[in-house]
Amino acid sequence: MNIRGLIAESFLYPARLLFPASCRSCAAKDVEGHAAPLCGKCLADIRLPPRNICATCGKPLEFDYEIESGETYSCGECIENPPPFEKARFGLIYGGPARELLHEFKFRQRMAWARTIADLAEPRLAEFFEESKGYLVIPVPLSMWRLFFRGYNQSYLLAQHFAVKAGLEIADGALIRVKHTRPQYGLSREERGENVKGVFATRRRGIVEGAKILLFDDIFTTGATARECARTLIKSGAQSVRVAALFWAGPA
Ligand SMILES: [Zn+2]
Ligand SMILES: [Zn+2]
Repeated sequence: MNIRGLIAESFLYPARLLFPASCRSCAAKDVEGHAAPLCGKCLADIRLPPRNICATCGKPLEFDYEIESGETYSCGECIENPPPFEKARFGLIYGGPARELLHEFKFRQRMAWARTIADLAEPRLAEFFEESKGYLVIPVPLSMWRLFFRGYNQSYLLAQHFAVKAGLEIADGALIRVKHTRPQYGLSREERGENVKGVFATRRRGIVEGAKILLFDDIFTTGATARECARTLIKSGAQSVRVAALFWAGPA
């Protein structure tokens, strides 16, 4: 089945056939009728990022400011050590029930959860894609063997969903993994940076050169992967890189 078929199936498949009888997060029994593996209470606990975020890396800031004034602030880290990407924005805050949702979607191949994640992340991501007119969407690639075992890149489906809505082009395969790495999970910030060094390469250089790129990933933790991808794309001639991720899991 092609990607389009998969996304259509994931969005249309009768929910009751796929959804479990109890909530994955709190084990409550009232999941019936919810388009998720979660109960209504857990779904409501999944939070959008606040509006007072670092204008660069998207991390929630500790202070409030007059958002309507148009004034923006960057966090100390971004001022001291600016990332190779222009800005990063996120759909949802990771943690609690969000963890179960992403895990089910990513590792258990429950494609029906794609719809739930897309709907929840919609307010922030649709807006970011809209303001990124003219950007070329490139999903962070899976390694070949992960792609082989899973058969598809889940975040590609969601990248495609938001790209189509905003009228942006999406290019799969423009960025590839040339080295297999251990999963970033459980590694320190430094180890994560080391682990992804030299892992990516660009193919289809012609479309990357001079392009403004919106890199798409499922989760942003320390940003090591996003930084390495951005550096690789810029080295290949990309004009600028932005980052969108479904979940922000960064340290506060
Ligand atoms: Zn629950
Ligand atoms: Zn920042």
